[in-house]
Amino acid sequence: MPLVSRINLSAVLNLGVLVITLSFTACTTRSTLDAFSINADSSAPVVKLYAMDCGTLEVPDADIFGSKGEYQGVSGIMPVTCFLIRHPRGDLLWDAGLPDELHSKPDPDAAELKGIARQFVPVTLESQLVSLGVSVSDVEYFSISHSHFDHVGNANLFSGSTTILSKAEFEHMFSDESRQRPDFKRYHLLEHENVELFSGNYDVFGDGSVEILEMPGHTPGHSVLKVDLINAGTVLLTGDLYHFEQSRERRITPAFNFDIPMTLRSMDTFEALAKKERARVFISHSIVARHWLPRPPEYLD
Ligand SMILES: [Zn+2]
Repeated sequence: MPLVSRINLSAVLNLGVLVITLSFTACTTRSTLDAFSINADSSAPVVKLYAMDCGTLEVPDADIFGSKGEYQGVSGIMPVTCFLIRHPRGDLLWDAGLPDELHSKPDPDAAELKGIARQFVPVTLESQLVSLGVSVSDVEYFSISHSHFDHVGNANLFSGSTTILSKAEFEHMFSDESRQRPDFKRYHLLEHENVELFSGNYDVFGDGSVEILEMPGHTPGHSVLKVDLINAGTVLLTGDLYHFEQSRERRITPAFNFDIPMTLRSMDTFEALAKKERARVFISHSIVARHWLPRPPEYLD
């Protein structure tokens, strides 16, 4: 069981049942899609989506991931996932996970997290890219769902890429206050000339196949990623709009959210889009998604 309760047995039972249910649903969906691949439009670009292991957070009490005690006393393991999207016109890395340096120095930053979580990086992002034949300097485009520590750990590695950021998130990241935070050193090199700022939506390759959609509230410019794949259909990557499946089902916002009403409006927008596109939704920190998504060198296309 991915989440184990020390205190709140009913909460963990709910989560356990939910995880088992969603695992079953996900497997059913996948085998259905494997059997009935969507008939490809021959003019559509061949886009590949790789889910990269960007670390793990071990959380002794997930209370902060709710604002009304929904996860109080529930401990668990939270995967941190980054995504490489390979398009004929270039590569996009979406989110930068926990820093690769934690691989050789396990958990040096535990104090920064004030006992909220322990961080582990069993395999580096850079080595996973190399195993796919991609060097860091090959990645043409870099973007993030938002600037929390577990999404920017390796951001400086991609300072040579075209960086695509929500204008609101960029202003938040480089505010006087943010410059004083410990995480600033993880992404400070992104303040360069090759930054594309957007408000609303950003079509990364100009053909509508990969779009960054601003859905703010978790942070000022939080965004999600929409990827249209020939065989797998439309995929939506949530960032931290949701942290767990139960957060999506019950519209739970974390205690450290920037603006709860704004987040709830973004959830409405997201769910309407997911329904319209009949999209498959992957929650970045979901252990269900981590188990279900193919591991490199396998990919969704
Ligand atoms: Zn976050």
